[in-house]
Amino acid sequence: MSDSYFDEGALIGVLTPEPLDRVLDYRAPEGGCWPGAFVEVPLGPRKVLGVVWGPGQGDFDASKIRAATRVLDAAPMRDELRVFLEKAGAYTLTPLSQMLRLATRVPGLSDPPSMRKVYRLGHATPAKMTDARARVIAVLVEYGGLAFTLKELADLAGVTASVVKGLAAQGVVEEADTPRDTPFLPLDPDRPGKPLTDDQQAAADALRTAITSGRYGTTLLKGVTGSGKTEVYLEAVADCLRQGRQALVLLPEIALTSEFLTRVEARFGAKPAEWHSGVTMTERRRTWRMVGQGHAQLVVGARSALFLPFQDLGLIVVDEEHDTSYKQEEGALYNARDMAVLRASLNDAQVVLASATPSLETWANAQAGKYARLDLSARFGTAVLPQMRAIDMRAEDLPGQAWISPTLKREVSQRLDKGEQSLLFLNRRGYAPVTLCRACGAQVGCDHCDARMVEHRFQKRLVCHQCGETKPLPEVCPACNVSGKMAAVGPGVERIAEEAARVFPDAKLAILSSDLFGSARALKAQIEQIASGETDIIIGTQLVAKGHNFPRLTLVGVIDADLGLQGSDLRAAERTFQLMRQVSGRAGRAEAPGVALLQSFQPEHPVVRAILSGDEEGFWRAEAAEREAAGMPPYGRLAGIIISAEDAAAGFDLGTRLARNDQPIRDIGGIVYGPAPAPIARVRGRHRVRLLVKAPKGAPLQSAIARWISPVKASAKLRLSVDIDPQSF
Ligand code: ADP
Ligand code: ZN
Ligand code: ZN
Repeated sequence: MSDSYFDEGALIGVLTPEPLDRVLDYRAPEGGCWPGAFVEVPLGPRKVLGVVWGPGQGDFDASKIRAATRVLDAAPMRDELRVFLEKAGAYTLTPLSQMLRLATRVPGLSDPPSMRKVYRLGHATPAKMTDARARVIAVLVEYGGLAFTLKELADLAGVTASVVKGLAAQGVVEEADTPRDTPFLPLDPDRPGKPLTDDQQAAADALRTAITSGRYGTTLLKGVTGSGKTEVYLEAVADCLRQGRQALVLLPEIALTSEFLTRVEARFGAKPAEWHSGVTMTERRRTWRMVGQGHAQLVVGARSALFLPFQDLGLIVVDEEHDTSYKQEEGALYNARDMAVLRASLNDAQVVLASATPSLETWANAQAGKYARLDLSARFGTAVLPQMRAIDMRAEDLPGQAWISPTLKREVSQRLDKGEQSLLFLNRRGYAPVTLCRACGAQVGCDHCDARMVEHRFQKRLVCHQCGETKPLPEVCPACNVSGKMAAVGPGVERIAEEAARVFPDAKLAILSSDLFGSARALKAQIEQIASGETDIIIGTQLVAKGHNFPRLTLVGVIDADLGLQGSDLRAAERTFQLMRQVSGRAGRAEAPGVALLQSFQPEHPVVRAILSGDEEGFWRAEAAEREAAGMPPYGRLAGIIISAEDAAAGFDLGTRLARNDQPIRDIGGIVYGPAPAPIARVRGRHRVRLLVKAPKGAPLQSAIARWISPVKASAKLRLSVDIDPQSF
């Protein structure tokens, strides 16, 4: 990519977010353009947005090349972002045009200029005074130094726009340009932060050295919940801002942003910019532009914020880096954590990966010395990690359709007596995971996927957690037509809440489950109510595992610690371990020490034992050894090839053909497994078949896959997508 200006008429290559596989040749528009400029180009009968990617290739018939219509009003895309899109696209095997879509998902990109004309009182006196002119002057005098748009001023004075323009021509009214978007209030990194503990200070100092080096580096910041990771990385943000560079903090859950924004405001005196699905279109436009002009110093956002046009990004924090929601599972299949590392390496920036329970990949990278590692060992203040004990469910006397064991009940009652909060945790939304006919044994499945329908009693419906399909609870069995025999089997949080209400009739309960809140605001209100201490017992899904502060919480009861240990997913152990540790980290943050009780039918299971003993490094080492022996990530490479087909047989056919012609994969020492139904086997009426490719660590996996699948012609009936580093395998 060159940095030289393209004069009007010069041959330029333009990338558009349209689904075309190449950069197209155009002629530079009137006035010329810079590389990276956002332009409007004719494409067939339409005009579309594009980015000047470099000089044109010149391999089209020169007489047919059309000219770009105009340069749009946006800061040109920097080389760094263009290279990032190319590399990220090459890594994830995503077409470049689709990558560009991620970076241009902003409304109003082709709108008129972001500067607008305003009018205020000038110094000259009019040559001839008329009634209309006098009214304009009177309005301007009345409002002091205020400036108005043409329309505002004309409306206020009750005159036509030409009257105002006439006054402007004489200098009676002054015309000026001001930015359409109001800038963000400046953040002040030099306001004093909280005094740090020795541990925290050491970590903050190490990050300061890294940031002031002006070089790329990634650091794992590890510490239990409440150890002050956020305090420490806010110091790193301050250092980055002092360098005059921009910072980005990625959070896995929108529900967490408001608490975080408040903390940023307390620390830096103003709120940062936000970027996630809950942000309004106007606000998005403003943020995108301000980021591009370098006027937004700090952005807090979801994974898509990685594609914002930062002028000079110096620091990316990925909070809760292990969180699975960082993986985009539709369209471009990228992991925001890995892409953050890529983007930072292209811009001499630092990455901080914060977690109490890092992913095995990150743990291994730190172990191998590729990432630095900082540990915050102690919790802030006097609170200590909760005591963890198993409740052996085989020894508990519990009737059928009940899940709160006598031991757990006793412990919760003690907390109620002391006025402390308890949390009952079950990572399963809804009322019951299975709806079964007691006459014939049939289970109610989803009509669109293979998943079972989950009863949601509050909504009075069955919901498919895979595709979102809902239907009313059947009175009559769809299989045998017998009525009144449909029964709920197994527990979801709603059912645990029902049981808790029965067992603890005087307690105030609250359920925290993502599907019960229509909006982030409703969820926030519920969280605030819980944090204020009004609630006695919280019943929640993994939503509660994510960083909320509940100071009165001293007991966590894990209803089913075995959930997630069975199943074919090799990451199950890792996920269960992380989740259990996070949930137990909820108890006893403040002065009161906490207790976590894990109901388990197999307390001797290695994962359950590792949680109880708190031997984290031991757990990682064992898990790493197992993965290494199997050649699994991060010790080997994996990719999924997902065939999405209208017709299941056609999907399997194509999968079988690919599996038979796997020479390109064998050339790099790889193996193809499958075809098999994908982990999500049916989505919105389409069947999904998956091939899994395993290759040695250093192998050129992407290019081999590209060669392998390139003969396949995709169609609406058969679509192929590649999932590099799949989440489940
Ligand atoms: P983490 O991000 O590791 O969960 P936080 O940074 O959120 O931890 O800290 C947990 C709580 O302790 C927060 O309320 C935070 O303000 C407080 N805290 C942490 N470190 C300090 C400190 N050095 N001085 C005062 N309060 C602190
Ligand atoms: Zn039946
Ligand atoms: Zn479904």
